[in-house]
Amino acid sequence: MTVQVELAADELVIRAPATGAELGRVPVLGGSAVRAAVAAARAAQPDWAATPVRERAARLDEFRMLLAENARELAGISSAETGKLPFESMMVDVMTTCDLARWYAKRAEHVLAPRRAPVGWMLTKKAWIEREPYGVIAVIGPWNFPILNVMRAVMAGVVTGNAVLLKPSEATPLSALAVQKLAHRAGIPEPIFQVLTGDGSTGRALTEAAVDKISFTGSVETGRKIAQAAAARLIPVTLELGGKDPIIVTEGADVKRAARTAVNGAFWNAGQICVSIERAYVVDAVYDEFIAEAVRATQELKVGLPDDADADVGAMTVETQVAHVERQVRDAVERGARVLAGGRRGELPRTWMPTLLVDVTHDMDVMRSETFGPVLPVMRVRDADEALRLANDSGFALGASVWGRAEEAERLAGSVRAGMVCINDALVNGTVASLPFGGAGESGHGRVYGDEGLREVTRPRALLVDRVGLPWEPGLFPLRRFGQARALGLVRALHGRGFVERARGVLSILRNR
Ligand code: NDP
Repeated sequence: MTVQVELAADELVIRAPATGAELGRVPVLGGSAVRAAVAAARAAQPDWAATPVRERAARLDEFRMLLAENARELAGISSAETGKLPFESMMVDVMTTCDLARWYAKRAEHVLAPRRAPVGWMLTKKAWIEREPYGVIAVIGPWNFPILNVMRAVMAGVVTGNAVLLKPSEATPLSALAVQKLAHRAGIPEPIFQVLTGDGSTGRALTEAAVDKISFTGSVETGRKIAQAAAARLIPVTLELGGKDPIIVTEGADVKRAARTAVNGAFWNAGQICVSIERAYVVDAVYDEFIAEAVRATQELKVGLPDDADADVGAMTVETQVAHVERQVRDAVERGARVLAGGRRGELPRTWMPTLLVDVTHDMDVMRSETFGPVLPVMRVRDADEALRLANDSGFALGASVWGRAEEAERLAGSVRAGMVCINDALVNGTVASLPFGGAGESGHGRVYGDEGLREVTRPRALLVDRVGLPWEPGLFPLRRFGQARALGLVRALHGRGFVERARGVLSILRNR
């Protein structure tokens, strides 16, 4: 999604989406500035990696407490840049980032600790696995949660001993610069965490620079370009891309709660969440009850700007996104969908009224491509199996929400194509620091959050040591000394079927001495 912000010569002018007020200006860094930043990170990284993990974790924990101390100011910056409500900034950009900082700081030592590995028949050896940082990691992120959705990869990278260069979205660099200041105050060295402001060209320069890994969060379209840039340099890449998360509601579910959760999941942050509920499949038997409650819940919502303390749904961040939502809803209506709520721009600038659509069909764009806006299309289905088939008929596989009697809900949870599934709930998994976050297919690959998020920014290093120093052992020259017959005996002794076969293997080794 191209974000349109004002470009004054070589700087970006950041404006509040809903009011147009200027919030600040930042430079657009070009290729040479990016390469210089990578070189500084490269030079500083070995010392940082050699710093004991406990010390790195302590600095991350200090950063967490600074986030909390400056929570009001940070939520204000995130809200001003994005048009979201300060509550949404506080609960996700600040709170979940704090939760994750605590998780990573607590778990880093354990995840990085060397693990013993069995050595099979080579009894004179000892082996273990260590994890080492990649080196210099590029993090490129989106605008929808301008602190959490970049810091979840940055913090994992830093605490595991990497240097991290962050390119924030051109729409939301001020949040990134604010957290960078706190990170440096917490004792994370300046070259180890650098924010590189700019537009898509800055991001491209970063992917082409000498980094060792890229962690990207954003659209499928840019994700493909990032993957190609990574392939050209043969470096690994984590891709956290879009979603089209389904909710499936079956008989036996608490239908009213399901409807309210669907509305919540679809309209929170004006639908600009990768794990927003973007399509609902409701079985015939409970459909009418679901719709009645969903309409009620949607009509109760108040759309407002960040300064409205009573608002539930804020402004959208970029105009191109509002236009995309408008196009999708118009297309659905032209093809027979009915609007039960919303369906139009709000009175306030850059707002879209929370929209409930019914009579949608599965070939409509609103059921197939990511909306990333406050729209909930609902389909009536015959039964749970039809719901599951339609839910899985998508290129995306990020999150899913399933509702029903315990056994049925668990069956659906086991079969729905998604990296993250909520049973009788939705969306909240994205605020749980211990749960790995990520998807499959067009939703990308790799994980942030949890221990997996720490492993994702490190690679295993296998070590083996000889403990005894025998003058000779099987496999060393001359090969005939152990010989083919005893090699066959060894295979059978270790892998033969049943006791007798294995005993024969042992005999064959002894006999052929
Ligand atoms: P974009 O893909 O447009 O941009 C993401 C980042 O990539 C921005 O920083 C952008 O810079 C940068 N960029 C653009 N072009 C290039 C390039 N050629 N090389 C390197 N970097 C580049 O995504 P949005 O910012 O519009 O974010 C919305 C998308 O993010 C949605 O699809 C959403 O689903 C997804 N997302 C996924 C999440 C997940 O965890 N799976 C979480 C949150 C969002 P600039 O903005 O300056 O152009």
